[in-house]
Parts: sequence; structure tokens; C-alpha cells
Amino acid sequence: MNATTGTSERSRTYEVRTFGCQMNVHDSERLSGSLEAAGYVRADSGDADVVVINTCAVRENADNKLYGTLGMLSSVKRKHEGMQIAVGGCLAQKDKGTILEKAPWVDVVFGTHNMGSLPALLERARHNGEAQLEILESLEVFPSTLPTRRESTYSGWVSISVGCNNTCTFCIVPSLRGKEKDRRPGDILAEIQALVDDGAIEVTLLGQNVNSYGVEFGDRQAFGKLLRAAGEIRGLERIRFTSPHPAAFTDDVIEAMAETPAVMPQLHMPLQSGSDRILRAMRRSYRSEKFLGILDRVRARIPQAAITTDIIVGFPGETEEDFQETLRVVEAARFSSAFTFQYSIREGTPAATMADQVPKDVVQERYERLVALQEHISWEENQRLVGTAVEVLVANGEGRKDADTHRLSGRAEDGRLVHFDIPAGSAAPRPGDVVSVVITQAAPFHLIADAPSGATLTVRHTRAGDAWDRAEAASCAVPDAPGTAPGRVSLGLPTFRPSA
Ligand code: SF4
Repeated sequence: MNATTGTSERSRTYEVRTFGCQMNVHDSERLSGSLEAAGYVRADSGDADVVVINTCAVRENADNKLYGTLGMLSSVKRKHEGMQIAVGGCLAQKDKGTILEKAPWVDVVFGTHNMGSLPALLERARHNGEAQLEILESLEVFPSTLPTRRESTYSGWVSISVGCNNTCTFCIVPSLRGKEKDRRPGDILAEIQALVDDGAIEVTLLGQNVNSYGVEFGDRQAFGKLLRAAGEIRGLERIRFTSPHPAAFTDDVIEAMAETPAVMPQLHMPLQSGSDRILRAMRRSYRSEKFLGILDRVRARIPQAAITTDIIVGFPGETEEDFQETLRVVEAARFSSAFTFQYSIREGTPAATMADQVPKDVVQERYERLVALQEHISWEENQRLVGTAVEVLVANGEGRKDADTHRLSGRAEDGRLVHFDIPAGSAAPRPGDVVSVVITQAAPFHLIADAPSGATLTVRHTRAGDAWDRAEAASCAVPDAPGTAPGRVSLGLPTFRPSA
């Protein structure tokens, strides 16, 4: 008889229960492997000495399923001397110590980066007679998990994948970053939770091609599920993402956007060209009608969505007819704004050595026509918002002329930039607070909301505003430079170029 465990010297048996996706199934194989390497044998019947639950944070009711299972195992454990229960996987990575608080009969909680330590943690728990919690945060390929000093108290970027499996002929990303690597859902959700705990109320999910997220672990609907799971995080008010790819954009993502209140009515959908011939040369596998069909379906479910895009003018071989196709699609798409680029050779890309490079003056002339058309559409689309009420998340450093105009700036829910004034007698909101204003003027690139005389500003104080106060108090109080707007400092979100 083993004095420590109360079991005989026979090999201890184990069972791994897997909740969730293919990546979890794969991880469970590794868990089983590491237990067997440590001398455990797989249990034939349902009375294993060690039960390992490999959790998922994305599936619906993931918490209920975990705690329901743990509840049942608690009574099994009472009758089975020496039995141990371990919880790992995405939900463990996300909830950490909460699991031990809710289910103190659990012996080991371990994260997604330290699966190999499971046998040692089980042994330590038996030896010390107390539960072991070990969660490692590091995952080298995802820069956002490395120590970070966030530049904004109210908003954060969260990387969900790196690399790209596409091979667009103008793009250097595949040769620089390699194949897509997907970060685990539990890690992403844990990082979002940490940001929210620090006061952030907005996150932007980042990937070269966010809607192919899940390809690595065999779940084609993983991105929609991730949006829904992020939408469950209490205190997170605004979720954005960039960039999806039209070829892989599926209706389940549209449904997740429409049904998750925290996902903002904003979509960046890179067109690149309206000519099917050029899209083929770019090796982008959608065609213009498919692209416009996606926009129709998004607008059917999210009528207020602001859709933005990227367009390249003058790709090798582009004729005037091809360019006319781009103008046609731009007219039909009614983008709220577009990032427009003149094609230029990028060494190392397939397009760099293509024949028929378009002369610079031709590219310039087409570019000017495209910009004029899109500016007009942006202006018309913005005009439609005059007289409507919008909720603006107050930013710091977004309005370059704020000091001169005595306005503050921020983003509406649909991502549009809004400059608003502060009526006499109203206190200035803090960056991170949310103001309700009515749009009074529109320009192609921004909206203005000037309050009628005698009005007061409607401000909702938020946790993000409180976090701003704390950050201000923590920094040595450097006075505003003369002429700067109240509360404006030189912080600001890092700039980011969408590329998918
Ligand atoms: S443009 Fe986007 S989708 Fe195409 S290869 Fe580059 S990163 Fe991938």
C-alpha cells in the first residue's frame, strides 16, 4: 500500500475527457502521451485514478459543462480514495484560480503552454496535499503575449493569428511571416479579459486573414465562435477586427456579428480590384460579384454597418477597362471610406517581375479619379448621418485640430471619426468615457457634432475613464502644453495597416 495515496503499487490509471475543438483533441493526445511516459496507464472502465478535463473556452455553455462535470466528479472522488482531478485547456488558461475557488476538490489546474508539466503537478499535489495551479503565459509566435506596455487605457489590440496561407502576388507577408499560425481561443480570451480587468472597454482582434482563423485546428467556424465568446466578457463594450478576406468570409461570421451586441457595426473588407481578370492575376480567389454579395448580406443583417476597404490602382497589366470595373464596384459598394494605394513594385513578390507594369503617370491619373469618386461617396454616406444620434468613445490624440477647434474626438460605434464640442457649463469627458451626441455636419473623413446652445453634454463615465484617471495619477503630473485640448496627451493607439 502506498502511504501517501492510499492506493496499491499498481500503476495509476488515467482518463482524459476532451471538450472542444480539434486543437483540444490533439492536445489531449499529448496529455495522454506525457502521462503514459510518467507510468500512468489508460483506464479501461470509468474509475480512473486521475481524470483530466481538457477544456474549451469557445463552445457555448463551456463553463456550465465544466462545472457540471466537476460537480459529478466530486461525488466520485469522495468514494475513490487517492483520486485526482486535473483541469487544463483554454478555459483553464482563461479562468485560472477561479476554477479552484468554484471547485476546491480539483487537484491541478494547468494552462495550454505547460501541458508537459501535468505529471509533475499531479505528483506535487499528492505530495503536498494541496491543489496546484500553473499557468504559463508565453507563446513565442504571438507578440501580444510578450510583456507589453499598452498605449491606450480604453482600447487594446489582440493578435489572434500570424502569417497567411494565401499567396496574393503583390504581398510580401507570406514570405516574411510564413503559414498562418492560430493562437488558442483560451489564450485570446484570457488576454482580452486581462485588458478588460485593466479598464479597457474596446478590443480589436488582429490577423492577416481573421476569418480563416481555426484552419490550423480544423474548425472553419472558429472565428464566429470567437466573436461570440469575446462578446460574453463582461465589461467589454466594443469588439472590432481586421482584416477578413472576401474569399473566406462566411455567413456564420455575419450572424455572429449581428447577434453579438459588443461586435461593432463595422467591417473592413479588402477589395483590391474590381476587375475579375486582375483579381485572378493578384491570385485572389473571389470575384467582384461574390464580393458585392457579401456586402449585401452584411447590410441585410446589420443595416447600419460602415464598410471600408483597400484598393490597389495600377496592378501590372491593369487596362482602362479593368480600372472601369473597379470604379463600377466602388460605386455599387458604397464604402464609407477606402485606403487607396498606387501599385509599386515590392521586391520578392511575384508581381514585381510581371510584364506590363503600368506607367507611373497612368497610375497617378487613375488613382486621382478613384480617390475623387470614393471621397464623394464617403461624403454622401456621411451626410446621411446628419441629425442622427451616435455614441462616441472619447479618444486621446485622434483629433489633430482639436486644440484649435475646442472640440474633442472619438470613434462612433461604426468606427467613424467624430469631433464634438463641449457646451459651456459641461465638464470635459475623460478619454475612455462615452458621450451621446447628435451629428450636425459631415465631411468625407469625419463627422461633427456641435451641441445646440444651452445644451449639456451627455457623458457616460466608464471603467476606461476611471483607468485613465488612475494612469494620470500614476504618472508624474506633467501639465498640458499650452494650447492642447483638455485631457489630451501624446499617447495614442499604435498605427496599423490592414493588409489582407
Ligand atoms: S494580402 Fe492579405 S491575404 Fe493576401 S497574402 Fe497578403 S496577408 Fe495574405
